[in-house]
Amino acid sequence: MITLYNLIPNLLGFFLGLIIGSFLNVCIHRIPKEESIISPGSHCPKCKNRIKWYDNIPILSYILLGGKCRYCKEQISPIYPAIELLTGILTALLFSQFGISFDAIYFSILTWFLIAISFIDIKELQVPVKPCYFTMVFGIIFSLFTKSNTFMDSILGASLGAGIILFIIETYYIIKGKEGMGYGDANILAAIGAFLGWKKIFFVIMIASLTGAIIGIIILIREKKHSETPLPFGPFLSIGGYLTIFVGNFLLKFYLGG
Ligand SMILES: [Zn+2]
Repeated sequence: MITLYNLIPNLLGFFLGLIIGSFLNVCIHRIPKEESIISPGSHCPKCKNRIKWYDNIPILSYILLGGKCRYCKEQISPIYPAIELLTGILTALLFSQFGISFDAIYFSILTWFLIAISFIDIKELQVPVKPCYFTMVFGIIFSLFTKSNTFMDSILGASLGAGIILFIIETYYIIKGKEGMGYGDANILAAIGAFLGWKKIFFVIMIASLTGAIIGIIILIREKKHSETPLPFGPFLSIGGYLTIFVGNFLLKFYLGG
């Protein structure tokens, strides 16, 4: 039976996710420009007015302001509240799975990274190295404290994650004479591997390839021609990484025949 007591982890995860989502918006906006993600505080990109705390409440402020800047009435992109909501929901699901625990936080940190890096990849078609590196290091160090991963699996996961993508890039280059994937994808999979361990890397790639192929075909049908802009693979690796947090153990048992 669902009671309020049962929902406490979900609600906690949801509200934590909303707050982090608001911060991820700042990261997505500033990291590609190599600006500080800490200072100055948020301001309107048009009139440059500082956004007061009460105009910066996730989702709620967007609704109350009618999606416009308080001062110059410039439209605020609905992508901002959408990212906050997405982060809230994905974090709530993790807390629902792991309860209020270290593991919930551990996988939330991977998830927050994946959300930020996906939207940066979609926007810029480029993956910044530093966030991948820090997330990977965090994943390796804190694998010592989680029940879902071991230190050795984490190091092997990061190495294999980067290694597989580099192998694909080099092989594709030898055959086709051009790059099929970005080096950024290797960095993303290294970070994912650090959190999930080496065995689950294969499921991440499987899910990423499958969802990537489906979306690729849909775009191909809709545009009715071969698009020259390459489809960024980071978001699909992210979907693979997030889903594998939930289904990884099940798939491992299934494939090992247990
Ligand atoms: Zn403004």
